[in-house]
Amino acid sequence: MANEQFDVTVIGSGPGGYVAAIRAAQLGLKVAIVEKDKRLGGTCTLRGCIPTKQLLMSAHVYEQMQHAADFGVQASGIQLAFADVQKRKEKVVMKNSKGIEFLMKKNSITRFNGTGRLALPGKVEVTGEDGKKQTINTKNIIIASGSVVRPIPGFETDGERVVNSDHILELKEVPKSLIVMGAGAVGVEFASVYSRFGAETTIVELLPRLVPLEDEEVSKELERSFRKRGLKSQVDTKLDKMEKTAEGIVVSGKTSKGLVVKLEAEMLLVAVGRMAYTEGLGLEGTKIKVERGFIQVDEYQQTGEKGVYAIGDVVPTPLLAHLASKEGIVAVEHMAGQKDVRPINLRLVPNCTYCDPEVASVGLTEAKAREQGYDVQVGKFPFLASGKARILGEEEGFVKVVSEKKYDEILGVHIIGPHATELIAECCVAMQLESTAEELGRTMHAHPTVSEAVMEAAEGVHGLAIHI
Ligand SMILES: Cc1cc2nc3c(=O)[nH]c(=O)nc-3n(C[C@H](O)[C@H](O)[C@H](O)COP(=O)(O)OP(=O)(O)OC[C@H]3O[C@@H](n4cnc5c(N)ncnc54)[C@H](O)[C@@H]3O)c2cc1C
Repeated sequence: MANEQFDVTVIGSGPGGYVAAIRAAQLGLKVAIVEKDKRLGGTCTLRGCIPTKQLLMSAHVYEQMQHAADFGVQASGIQLAFADVQKRKEKVVMKNSKGIEFLMKKNSITRFNGTGRLALPGKVEVTGEDGKKQTINTKNIIIASGSVVRPIPGFETDGERVVNSDHILELKEVPKSLIVMGAGAVGVEFASVYSRFGAETTIVELLPRLVPLEDEEVSKELERSFRKRGLKSQVDTKLDKMEKTAEGIVVSGKTSKGLVVKLEAEMLLVAVGRMAYTEGLGLEGTKIKVERGFIQVDEYQQTGEKGVYAIGDVVPTPLLAHLASKEGIVAVEHMAGQKDVRPINLRLVPNCTYCDPEVASVGLTEAKAREQGYDVQVGKFPFLASGKARILGEEEGFVKVVSEKKYDEILGVHIIGPHATELIAECCVAMQLESTAEELGRTMHAHPTVSEAVMEAAEGVHGLAIHI
């Protein structure tokens, strides 16, 4: 192996790294991938997207079965078998990880087990668990080392009463009560899982609303829906103290108006903060710039060192698996000298939160569009008026299309409700093709589907929605 020359060596096998490796192989490059974990797939497959969505699915099935009678199906003795929930999650994670292993083999990608470190120029040093070192000769390098949980001073985790997103995936039992600190995607998803599993749950958020990066109307609807289900939200509150007690934990803080807040539960989930993982990469003394922990790159994902690229959570763009993958493709196409390499358009990145009801968006919120000086027009369609949503028994939420008056171009779409995370894909296509709201509204959507709500919201921009 020592004298072998690779065209590209990818450090990290998350959705950034493994996708980049496959595309590089497809483009005819000779590829190596270095992963320090025994399993491939990174945060996304092992501790992020996949296991969380599997838990959410189990929570959904459990809740659906409790409401089976609403659909004329009598079910009794419905019980949560949490150990089996965890088993299924493990099985699905393992299958996904094995699938990535298969894809590495299928694409003739050489896998190195160990921690990769830049040894510029043109080399990556790999240190195995046993301390043995190997050197890879390589023309290009892609750093795809991802991110890890960032410790929050004063809220140190112990993996038992105070947990982070890694720990909470491995629980053996459902806690009786749970406080979730942080109402971003990770926080509301876990709140949505464990409240349905029976934990009395409260979400605490520093900013004035849940999912604070989403459109304000979406946040309001989510808070309303959570309240209806008994999931409590304590927004606009800065927690500054945590104490462990014999029964669990007590956290306290203040609202922006100075009101004291004190909450008690068996468990605290700290769902705020991740940081780019650059430990041991050997960036010191290179021309690679790191700012606030993140590796700085240009529009083609190039760092300050020629032939060294960085992608995914380790660069300062939103921490999302699909974005990591697309950044990987841009990097690889660029190094392979492909024509028409298109840098990422950050306005077209979909954001999905798989809580219940689901939340998804792409583009500008109404407020951001106005802030940017657009003459804004909005169309909204509630799922309450959708035949299919009624069939599903999921009538909460709406689709909101934000466009601008001059050309009618769609600037953003915001969805809360059934299958929002699937519906957003057509809105991404529409925006990628610079569609007008009128064109999206003219596009025939099958009946009965929840996707009709997207069409109707687009028609609603011009006051032409049919079913409201
Ligand atoms: C709880 C949770 C839920 C999430 N849910 C979603 C979701 O639903 N949708 C979504 O889009 N995103 C989600 N994310 C975010 C998503 O997981 C990340 O954005 C994504 O994994 C980033 O991919 P990446 O390839 O940049 O890095 P990672 O997936 O973090 O992979 C990096 C890999 O590099 C390896 N590595 C690091 N340093 C070295 C080294 N020196 N040598 C060798 N190997 C190294 C690591 O072991 C790791 O396997 C979630 C995250 C969390 C925590």
